[in-house]
Amino acid sequence: MSILVLNCGSSSIKFTLYEKESGLIIHRGMEDRVTDYDQSLEKILSDLEALLPGGLLTLEAVGHRVVHGGRRFRHPHLIDAEVLEGVKSCTELAPLHNPSNIRGIEFAARRLPDAHQIAVFDTSFHTTIPPEAHHYALPVKIAKKYRIHRYGFHGISHGYVHGRALQLLGDMSEGRSGVITCHLGNGCSMAAVKNGRCVDTSMGFTPLEGLVMGTRSGDLDPAIVHYLMSPEGGAFTDEEVHDLLNRESGLKGLSGLSSDVRDLLEARSRGHAGAALALSVFAYRLKKYICAYHGVLSGADALVFTAGIGENSPEMRAEAVTGLEPLGFVLDGEKNEGVRGVEEEITGPGSKVRIFVIPTDEDLMIYRETVKIISAKR
Ligand code: AMP
Repeated sequence: MSILVLNCGSSSIKFTLYEKESGLIIHRGMEDRVTDYDQSLEKILSDLEALLPGGLLTLEAVGHRVVHGGRRFRHPHLIDAEVLEGVKSCTELAPLHNPSNIRGIEFAARRLPDAHQIAVFDTSFHTTIPPEAHHYALPVKIAKKYRIHRYGFHGISHGYVHGRALQLLGDMSEGRSGVITCHLGNGCSMAAVKNGRCVDTSMGFTPLEGLVMGTRSGDLDPAIVHYLMSPEGGAFTDEEVHDLLNRESGLKGLSGLSSDVRDLLEARSRGHAGAALALSVFAYRLKKYICAYHGVLSGADALVFTAGIGENSPEMRAEAVTGLEPLGFVLDGEKNEGVRGVEEEITGPGSKVRIFVIPTDEDLMIYRETVKIISAKR
């Protein structure tokens, strides 16, 4: 039997087919620039059918990545009509993401009626965040009515690398541990995890808050939005402000050049001032959050770097940690230089905090959760 992991994004569909028992990958693929979901999913199914000797009937379950599960979905769920309704009710909180996730679920339910459908949520990992980090300082009545809270995202990735970090840390006394995870890709977020429970994360009500990202601003004074929409600030429309903060800001906006750290490192080495500024703002914000979470955890045991930048850029890892030696973060500079895309410890001598690079694997996490649920069902 086999398990399909489906990640339906806003314009692409990623998928991985696993051998159920062994977890071996049979096939991994991606459909880019998707406009007609059903058509693209149909194509994926026919490709997979050719790969499976017993055909699609050997597909036992489909694990779906679902971006927003609100506060309701604290764990992965077997999808039935009620769960699907619950996912739909979170759509207003994630209008860019949940609709494509739902399309994938409805398609799979229709075309693969014998396979179990499992939803694995990007928000679940953060549902343990305590009230003081979950609440914005807004009138409680309004926050409650409109469900305005810190939800956090990238939870499947944070959960995966956190689990791996615990294995690498070995025997922490009575399971006590403080881990800071940094998911630094096109989107960037961090999580503070105490004794296995996430206690804070940098993304909030939407994936716009927090760190500087490829094209997203991260934290800013909310009054800026108001100002941009006023005559003095350029009279931007609602849609233009949304576009500005989500697609034109971050590394791209600061550098005026590119959202890709590779381009910026290269341009900085040639003396490009915009690239240098963008990378320094990026590293500074990262450092600020590392320090904040070190405090939140009353001292971290481990710092983890993952995703495109975290796994592949020794420069950004070093720039984020440089200066934090008095707090107990010491990097092994030479080791760090050599680590690209592989799991490795890069802790330097005398460091109180162990520092790791751990490649993320969201699909593997979804596969594992899917297998767990269908095994428990029996
Ligand atoms: P992700 O969203 O995890 O695929 O990460 C994508 C981002 O990772 C790209 O936009 C780059 O900024 C960054 N990235 C990928 N490879 C490298 C590399 N070798 N060095 C620096 N940054 C990289």
